[in-house]
Amino acid sequence: MDVVSHLINGEKCQSPNTLPVTNPSTGEVVRQVADGDRAAVEQAITAAQAAFPAWRDTPPSRRVQVMYRFKQLLETHADRLVQLVSEEHGKTLEDAMGELKRGIENVEYACGVPELLKGEYSHNAGPGIDAWSNFQPLGVVAGITPFNFPAMVPLWMYPMAIACGNTFILKPSEKDPAAALAVAELLHEAGLPKGVINVVHGGRGAVEALLDAPDVKAISFVGSTPVAEAIYTRGSANGKRVQALGGAKNHAVVLPDADLQNAANTLMGAAYGSCGERCMAISVAVCVGDGTADRLVEMLLPKIAALKVGAGTERGLDMGPLVTAEHRDKVLGFIEEGVSAGASLVADGRGIKVAGHEDGYFIGGCLFDRVAPEMRIYREEIFGPVLCVVRVASLDEAMALINAHEYGNGTCLFTRDGEAARRFADGIEVGMVGINVPLPVPVAYHSFGGWKRSLFGDLHAYGPDSVRFYTRRKAVSQRWPSSVETSSAEFSFPSSG
Ligand code: NAD
Repeated sequence: MDVVSHLINGEKCQSPNTLPVTNPSTGEVVRQVADGDRAAVEQAITAAQAAFPAWRDTPPSRRVQVMYRFKQLLETHADRLVQLVSEEHGKTLEDAMGELKRGIENVEYACGVPELLKGEYSHNAGPGIDAWSNFQPLGVVAGITPFNFPAMVPLWMYPMAIACGNTFILKPSEKDPAAALAVAELLHEAGLPKGVINVVHGGRGAVEALLDAPDVKAISFVGSTPVAEAIYTRGSANGKRVQALGGAKNHAVVLPDADLQNAANTLMGAAYGSCGERCMAISVAVCVGDGTADRLVEMLLPKIAALKVGAGTERGLDMGPLVTAEHRDKVLGFIEEGVSAGASLVADGRGIKVAGHEDGYFIGGCLFDRVAPEMRIYREEIFGPVLCVVRVASLDEAMALINAHEYGNGTCLFTRDGEAARRFADGIEVGMVGINVPLPVPVAYHSFGGWKRSLFGDLHAYGPDSVRFYTRRKAVSQRWPSSVETSSAEFSFPSSG
């Protein structure tokens, strides 16, 4: 059986132990992945450190030549890459292609790094003194990524980290590691020197080795909130710069004046696309007024019944399976609990059968109506094809509900009322807001990040914030002796006045 190997100093290598990788559409183990231990992590750090001085001194305009070629290679190999994503994750091929394209946009943005790294300059900041700030790479930095975007989320991180002059260690999700490795390998084909990108697979052990290593200067993490918080705490206690993006519970508010047909159509994709396994998935529809809720539910029900569910690797489907049997069981547990708590399960996707894939981890679309804020299905992230409808009386009540939630990743308002839209966008305590756009994932030249317990750290992922995250500012003041008029000592604190 194939083993997905580490990629260290440009070479593929293994660890003594491996972990199984399953195709969730069939329940079969399709390959193994190396389970990186401290030794593998240390090897990767040594390689990344050795590669850093020369890469740091390579002019940014040359560094980005690799990125231009990398982008072309990603496009050339797109079909092979999305096949791997779909096989191990379960999402549909079309959805996997969407994720890859959004990842490639980050490579395009990183190609602009010579412009983005331009510093700040002040001529004559004092008598004969020029002052400037520039942005220098940190050294060895690491990224730890989740299962749900195995191609895109790594591409949020290392194109910019590398373009800024750092060297990088990626620890992808052990659930779907093959695409992350295949994408990183293309960087070498694009001409990246050995050791600048390294991939170490595995689980908690590999992550903890990265968190504790003094030579890893920064960590970017994307995953669930408990792990994000633990990584932020341990990484920053160890003196590292850390950005840790966590989980979500994204609400879409539907006002009575909204174009309900449009809201229902777009909510379908936002709630059930990728089987709800997106950190920006809409999992709660907050309907203002019972009439709005009744009409929305009525419009959603036939669409949910018509969802085409099957093996992600087949074309023309809406939804694949959940990622693992454990995760499917966790989602089933939430559904049972919602029913016991008194929510009304008006669409029940349990028990769905996909012919020829009887052992796949499928759940069809589920819709709960009359969900109350104290229920666990409302409070916690389910990360499955389950949409909860909460009924409120006003926009103010909807906003208060969202603002009280522990997560603040994404949200959306459906309305035709500009004043309401402005009030919502201004006052809502959520990092990414859509107005009639249910998945407001920022484009690559804006940054991505939630508020509250959806992000630990200050700088957001990708976009302009990533240039700041992967560099540190240096302020230089310079005076040449020939321009100094007096040579006597100055004992008062220097000022320019
Ligand atoms: P996860 O937290 O289980 O795993 C993420 C990464 O951390 C993986 O590489 C995993 O190997 C590692 N890991 C897991 N447990 C660990 C531990 N105890 N100590 C150290 N490392 C550990 O997340 P997941 O299930 O892979 O991904 C789904 C979660 O990610 C959801 O909560 C989702 O909302 C979130 N997510 C958030 C964003 C965002 O941008 N905010 C984006 C994508 C996914």
